[in-house]
Amino acid sequence: MVLSFFPVALAFLLFVYEYRNYRLIKRAKFLYEKGGVKYYQIESNEDNAITIKSILFGKNVIIIGSDNDKVLAHEEGHLRQPYFTYYFLVLSALGISYNILTIPILLIIYKMMFLHYERDADLYAYRVYNIRYESSAERPIKRIERLKAWIFDTHPPDYIRKEEEYYKKTNILKLFIRDLLS
Ligand SMILES: [Zn+2]
Repeated sequence: MVLSFFPVALAFLLFVYEYRNYRLIKRAKFLYEKGGVKYYQIESNEDNAITIKSILFGKNVIIIGSDNDKVLAHEEGHLRQPYFTYYFLVLSALGISYNILTIPILLIIYKMMFLHYERDADLYAYRVYNIRYESSAERPIKRIERLKAWIFDTHPPDYIRKEEEYYKKTNILKLFIRDLLS
């Protein structure tokens, strides 16, 4: 039975994920705890943050660069989201133990999941704090550059996140297709 590999695959993926969480938290300086969430900081010139919702390490926000209301509003959106990474790890362990050829499908699901939850956090910041993502990024003229921005950025592209349309309830896939075709 192929699925007998499932527990091993799951244990491995969980280990990799929690080890990454451990490394990030260990690297960062502890700042304060608020509402059951631990806040940490990593020095950087660029303002950003990572939210870690972990079964082992609890809820953590790692602020990269300076403490910034805009970034924190977005991360607060993430804190309210489900523990989606674990669902994805279970699905991946199932997929890989069933057939290694499911990996491309898993990567697409991973990408879609991030686009959905990043946008959801942006919409939360907008709804609750009236904060919109600001960026000076211009929309690339070349289609291939736009495609790369969608694929390789963890968030939707900056030039999309700052647009008015992004904060209306237009489906993210629709925004993607429209951006590529126009
Ligand atoms: Zn985010």
